[in-house]
Amino acid sequence: MNRSSVPQVTVIGGGVAGAEAAWQSAQAGAQVALYEMRPGAATPVHRTELLGELVGANSLGATTTHKAAGLLKQELRQLKSLVIRAADESALSRERELLVDRTTMAGTITELIATHPRIELRREEVAELSAIEPLIIATGPLTSQPLARSLYRCIRHAYRFFYQASAPIVTLPNIYDRGLLPGCPYDPEDDSGLNCPLDENAFEQFCAALSTAQTGLPDEYDGREMLEGYLPVEIMARRDPHLLRRGPMSPGRLVDPDSGERPPAIVRLMAEDTEGQLWRLLGMGTGLLPEEQARVLRMIPGLEDLEIVRPGQAARSVFLCAPALLARTGRVRDGEGLFLAGQLIGTADYVEAAATGWLAGVNAARWAQSETPLLFPPETMLAALMHRLTQSNPDTFAPQSVNFGMLLPVPGDRNLPKDERREAQVARSQAALTEFVTEQMPEPRE
Ligand SMILES: Cc1cc2nc3c(=O)[nH]c(=O)nc-3n(C[C@H](O)[C@H](O)[C@H](O)COP(=O)(O)OP(=O)(O)OC[C@H]3O[C@@H](n4cnc5c(N)ncnc54)[C@H](O)[C@@H]3O)c2cc1C
Repeated sequence: MNRSSVPQVTVIGGGVAGAEAAWQSAQAGAQVALYEMRPGAATPVHRTELLGELVGANSLGATTTHKAAGLLKQELRQLKSLVIRAADESALSRERELLVDRTTMAGTITELIATHPRIELRREEVAELSAIEPLIIATGPLTSQPLARSLYRCIRHAYRFFYQASAPIVTLPNIYDRGLLPGCPYDPEDDSGLNCPLDENAFEQFCAALSTAQTGLPDEYDGREMLEGYLPVEIMARRDPHLLRRGPMSPGRLVDPDSGERPPAIVRLMAEDTEGQLWRLLGMGTGLLPEEQARVLRMIPGLEDLEIVRPGQAARSVFLCAPALLARTGRVRDGEGLFLAGQLIGTADYVEAAATGWLAGVNAARWAQSETPLLFPPETMLAALMHRLTQSNPDTFAPQSVNFGMLLPVPGDRNLPKDERREAQVARSQAALTEFVTEQMPEPRE
């Protein structure tokens, strides 16, 4: 145990969870050592040496607080989250979801961390856990092997895994002159994105090519250990093309103005930058070999000459069964000053990872100063997230995004229409958090 007068906190992993944790510990007055192994050691999916790099979509989910991801972000904004601040400052669009310029966002996080007077950024891979406490491990789904083994020896909890795939980012000349359909399939008010319509014939040919193209996934891989919502498109095509039609290629309510009809399927492109040079193929996560991705995607009408800038990639992601070992404070139950955060404990997406980083960061600094840990107010989505991570059935536990069903109901509101019920839950969460900030959160140290 190392409870000194100048509180010290060590954080391993400089992703969204670790960067948030380091920042919050430092803001709470601790002297922080943050270890990030890139660029010296690589992961299969990170492309830069920036902290808080988004490896998949450039979306931080819904903007409205009437959606769970929107409320979670709003709560983190109230708590002065570093990740949400950087995302807000890098926003490309807020129409339906918060789309960011990933390089600007990660650049902002890196700059703020690197220049914080109480954070020392160490570009080193941690291979072996030492007895230093408090310690926050936030090494994510691609935790390096030596550290994963060392952590296992310490906590004796087995890892679980699944494959996660990112979608390709492409570039096309004169994209706005190709007759692609603007708009969002689910929201007529939202004109973000461009959509390539496929007729029945084109859809069938595309699916046939997808399902037979060469994938980088292991030979025996058939998606059984894949989580709902994470299936690579080639696996969907192999299993049942209707999964694609009902999922990432669903035309929703989009109508082709030429025919006046809904196309049978679409591929949706979302901007990755302000100049309209880079486009992500929404929901088209894939582990196909890069040259195969280019070949198959060029079959989509309108995308015949696309160039792939960043191929989709599938990675074997590990996580721990958080309900079996974690307390609602982010601390390992039998672990003295050991805290865990991020996808390593089964968060599903960037914002959730940042939320657990926030809590671990604050509570590690408090632990170092012998202060009682903070718990999120029970009325908030943050508390609902921690409840899911710590109280779910360990046998079936897996990453799953937050949703409104996880929030405590407002007494007497059962018979209200859904929108009004949510309105009441949002108002209650914001009020509880305002009180929490006023009463429990000290002003950041100079
Ligand atoms: C292929 C793929 C696609 C994804 N797509 C999406 C998506 O579209 N939307 C979404 O919301 N989420 C997506 N995710 C999940 C998302 O990446 C995670 O939820 C989020 O990044 C988790 O944050 P984290 O900080 O826990 O981990 P990470 O962001 O992975 O950060 C962990 C950091 O720890 C470092 N590290 C690892 N081992 C060591 C070590 N031994 N010593 C020092 N440093 C170490 C790594 O270099 C990394 O920087 C995707 C994940 C993958 C793998």
